[in-house]
Amino acid sequence: MSFLDGLNKQQKEAAQCVDSHLRIIAGAGSGKTRVVTTRIAYLVEELHVLPNKILAITFTNKAAKEMKERVESMLGDIGKAVQISTIHSFCVRLLREDILEIAYPRNFTILDGDDQKSILRDAYKQMNIDVKAYSYSSMLAYISGNKTNFVDCDMAKASAGVWAAEQIKADVYAFYEKRRKEMYALDFDDLLLYTHKILKEKEDVRRKWQRRFSFIHVDEFQDVDMLQYDIIRMLVKDGSYLCVVGDPDQTIYTWRGAQVDIIMNFEKDFPDSKTVILNENYRSTQQILNGANALIKNNKNRIDKELFTERKGEHKIVHFSAMDDANEPLWVVSKIRTLAQEGISYGDIAVLYRSNYLSRGLEKCLLDFRIPYRIYGGIRFYDRAEIKDSLSYLRLLTPSNPEDPKELYKNLAIKRIINLPKRGIGNKTMELIETQAEHDDTNMYEIIKNYEIGKGKAKASLQAFVQLIEKYRAQVDKISIDQLLEQLLEESGYLHMLREDKEIERLENIKELISDISDYVEAYPEGTLQEYLQEISLYTDKEDTSQRDCVQLMTIHAAKGLEFDHVFVYNLCEGVFPSERSIAEGGAQALEEERRLAYVAFTRAKKRLFLSDSYGYSFVLDKVKTSSRFVKEIPEEYIEEVGAKPRNTFTSDTDTFNGNDFLSMHSSFETKNTQAENKPVKKGKIRKGDLVTHDVFGDGVVIKLEDKLATIAFDKKFGIRKIMIDHPALKKK
Ligand code: ATP
Ligand code: MG
Repeated sequence: MSFLDGLNKQQKEAAQCVDSHLRIIAGAGSGKTRVVTTRIAYLVEELHVLPNKILAITFTNKAAKEMKERVESMLGDIGKAVQISTIHSFCVRLLREDILEIAYPRNFTILDGDDQKSILRDAYKQMNIDVKAYSYSSMLAYISGNKTNFVDCDMAKASAGVWAAEQIKADVYAFYEKRRKEMYALDFDDLLLYTHKILKEKEDVRRKWQRRFSFIHVDEFQDVDMLQYDIIRMLVKDGSYLCVVGDPDQTIYTWRGAQVDIIMNFEKDFPDSKTVILNENYRSTQQILNGANALIKNNKNRIDKELFTERKGEHKIVHFSAMDDANEPLWVVSKIRTLAQEGISYGDIAVLYRSNYLSRGLEKCLLDFRIPYRIYGGIRFYDRAEIKDSLSYLRLLTPSNPEDPKELYKNLAIKRIINLPKRGIGNKTMELIETQAEHDDTNMYEIIKNYEIGKGKAKASLQAFVQLIEKYRAQVDKISIDQLLEQLLEESGYLHMLREDKEIERLENIKELISDISDYVEAYPEGTLQEYLQEISLYTDKEDTSQRDCVQLMTIHAAKGLEFDHVFVYNLCEGVFPSERSIAEGGAQALEEERRLAYVAFTRAKKRLFLSDSYGYSFVLDKVKTSSRFVKEIPEEYIEEVGAKPRNTFTSDTDTFNGNDFLSMHSSFETKNTQAENKPVKKGKIRKGDLVTHDVFGDGVVIKLEDKLATIAFDKKFGIRKIMIDHPALKKK
């Protein structure tokens, strides 16, 4: 029995191609990733390649985790030695080992988005810049754009010419870089840039890393940018083999510099390479695959591929158009409940959306109906305030390091937590400390420790703070990191503060963090506090570790490469998806990228695909919404309409109808579609004392009204609950 038995002919050919470079180009769900994992198992098991000689680069942490699990399930414990990571984690590993080569200390910190903003905040303050004129996100995009294109601060300044705005931006860029270097910190771009620099300039180091790997794999290769490609290329030596895997129709990062030409022109850079094309989809049912194929054919700038599936399915793609944006999440949630009643577990259901902010309405609804869910990616777990605070406490404990005597990164941590809990340290005192630190060329913690600062209460509490930190610093190598954090947060009064404020959720999150750290401690008993902190900076898209069976929510970008039995694509409105910006740009490019994103979304589904949108007036878009053109591009034969609004009534080009059209649309809806799933709720004004009924909690009495929030006493089983009076699940009796 060989691992290869589970593969078809082309897949086998790809897995066994071990004497030349290899490119696999194929559509979604055709088994590209499976070929990579099987090939790794085959190399180890049948060709006796040492597992640590194999490197695989994936796109997200979640994809890396899944690939690791798959390889370990095939190879057992020796599979652990295969190097599987994202390109950023790979760079961190390389830098930890070799960054001294370019005279940078090994215990560099990694700046995340918040740390970057905090530097900008200082820059704006010092340079008197109005954040309304230069948003942080646009400034960070400007800085990143320069850095990744090798435009340094001097070049940016020179090219700013006489334009005042450009001059200001170039000055902020210079401030940012200076501050970053003083802190011995690296942002995400730097991880790639510094790695690139070392590999390029230090031949010995390059040779060393080249010798480490005989087989290098890169999944989702259609989304690599030039910098990443250069790094990968420099890891390949004579006698080692590169295997790249991708689908040009799934390129969704060109806005961040991904270049689909790289995969298309691969054989020019590697003339002795082979190309394998896979054309059977093993993931989705016929209807889903045909729908997605029809959609992507609308892109002009692509090479057509034939993809077929043998998987029959009884269900068409379902499309629902809700009458307003409150009804859309309600429909999604009611469908999820129906699926659950059919015996489907929540974990097999995913809801995907265009941008993170869209999840809120859905989250609220899921909470109301007590459906467990988990959000992957974006601004989640590690970005929550309490998590950042806890990590800041930990950062202050890191032992001093001769390579970086100043430890300026501690300033960010101090500023964050000095008054959490309240210690009565005012802004003036903080400024004084900061000035003194600049003067003494050290960090703020050292100043607090070495000087008597402030008077009375402030002075006493600064001293108490130092005592606390010193006490735990002395414990760093004596007790495990999870215990260290728990005790420190307890003794500092931080946990007490959260308990006082009844911050149950935040306390839960901290518990989660501590259990996460204990997992780390278990996996890496030798790991130091510093290594843990470096590691953690990469995990902005780390999932919550609780094991409950949860509906999975994520942006489409985060869903890349993953698959789920049942997929909802939420908020498919013109102007949201495709985004207003891509429509306004007019050109095909931005729109085609949005369509590729829709293709990625639709092809995540194995068994059932549900698409939803809502109409009604949108204040955000300032117009009446219509279904996305991406829904309309799916031929009718593959789609079942369950909403009230007939499809194709309004085309995307003529959807600027006026209020009268809008009203008539609603009235026809109300009279003709009484059976429709989103039957509108007739509402009278709710008053205190009213009898009401709720779809889930049943009958109840309104006992209090504040603004739009009603406190309602339901049956004993559900007790007293607060519900928005305009919640669609709530009706007056
Ligand atoms: P994407 O483009 O979305 O990354 P992919 O090409 O990487 O997709 P995989 O995720 O590797 O596709 O495979 C899709 C599904 O098909 C997986 O569940 C995989 O196990 C299954 N599969 C792949 N090849 C075969 C095969 N030969 N026989 C049975 N199942 C297969
Ligand atoms: Mg894949």
